[in-house]
Amino acid sequence: MKKDKLLMTPGPTNVPYGVREAMSRPMIHHRTDDFGLYFSCLNKNLKKVFQTDNPVLTLASSGTGGMEASIVNCFSPGDKVLVANTGVFGDRFVKIATAYGLDVVTMDIPWGKGVNGKDIEEILDSEEGEDVKGVLVTHNETSTGVTNDIQSIGEVLKERDCLFIIDAISSLGGMDVKTDEWGIDIVVAGSQKALMLPPGLAFVSVSDKAWKAIEKSTFPKFYFDFLAYKRSLEKNTTPYTPAVSLVIAASQSLNMIVEEGLDNIFARHKNLGEACRKAIKSIGLELFAQEDMASDLITSIKAPEGIDIEKVRKILNLKYDIMIAGGQQHLKGKIIRIGHMGYVDGFDLIKTLSALERALLEVGYKLELGTSLTAAQNILKY
Ligand SMILES: *Cc1c(COP(=O)(O)O)cnc(C)c1O
Repeated sequence: MKKDKLLMTPGPTNVPYGVREAMSRPMIHHRTDDFGLYFSCLNKNLKKVFQTDNPVLTLASSGTGGMEASIVNCFSPGDKVLVANTGVFGDRFVKIATAYGLDVVTMDIPWGKGVNGKDIEEILDSEEGEDVKGVLVTHNETSTGVTNDIQSIGEVLKERDCLFIIDAISSLGGMDVKTDEWGIDIVVAGSQKALMLPPGLAFVSVSDKAWKAIEKSTFPKFYFDFLAYKRSLEKNTTPYTPAVSLVIAASQSLNMIVEEGLDNIFARHKNLGEACRKAIKSIGLELFAQEDMASDLITSIKAPEGIDIEKVRKILNLKYDIMIAGGQQHLKGKIIRIGHMGYVDGFDLIKTLSALERALLEVGYKLELGTSLTAAQNILKY
């Protein structure tokens, strides 16, 4: 029997039926009131989910396009930026900023550890940190399973004359991002993670302070010129042909999110994170991420000595139709990552743990069947 894949990965994630149905509706023209209704509904709900009064731009690109566009729009050649490099996605900010000729100050954080306001403040107060025009931080570092302390970094940056840009691609819609209250100038989100959509859209919120910087930016740009998106948004439209089906789907998934309520969603993810970590430890496996900064949306697990963890992933996929993620770059074969973000509940996690136990047994790891399920069941509320 072949079942649909259960995606317990950090994107793409499972897409609910209502959103898939929305994707398959007949095509409509984008310069019509019909499209305008979907688009205004989406934009209203995006502000709620981003917890902001700022405009939120919808771009037809994956999350990385939103990261690149933010850098190109906010800065000019030679500007100095500080990047907290906490893993693959922190490093992506470094790579993009370097590609555009920015003067990049990199904080190289050991993978599995996170950053907070104090760490950032230390650099900004040093000689290296003089004249920094922007601080770029990954919120939920999906490659390592760490959540950086965005709120405390926001506190540090509030009184300083530099932009605060975060990659919330895997966190927005799954954990708290108080864009305005925490003083975040640019928040980048992606469709295929906690927002329960297929890949293909990036969402970017832009503060007044960021708009002032954008007006002064001298980088050449065209398709991703934020000012063009802003002018169109004021007329409830987009400068170029939008990804119509994805926008309709997004209006549907954002409705679902607003209906469930942000606090309920955050509580569900917190519960899933806690249950997953406890369950993993109950069968003698070790967590990879620093525990006080462990992500509630993704759990990273060290491969036990002598166990072929890539084979475990393969068994989960081919035998049980459950996808989990492996390690990226130097962590390949060293860790696995279980995503529990977006359209996921406790029973999806139980099913995954159950398959993981069987697969581990199959490759020679010793455990008593059901141990992690009991540990999870005692915590799960959703
Ligand atoms: C997935 C992810 C990205 C990359 O997004 P793409 O949509 O693959 O371009 C960037 N940052 C984080 C934190 C992510 O989880």
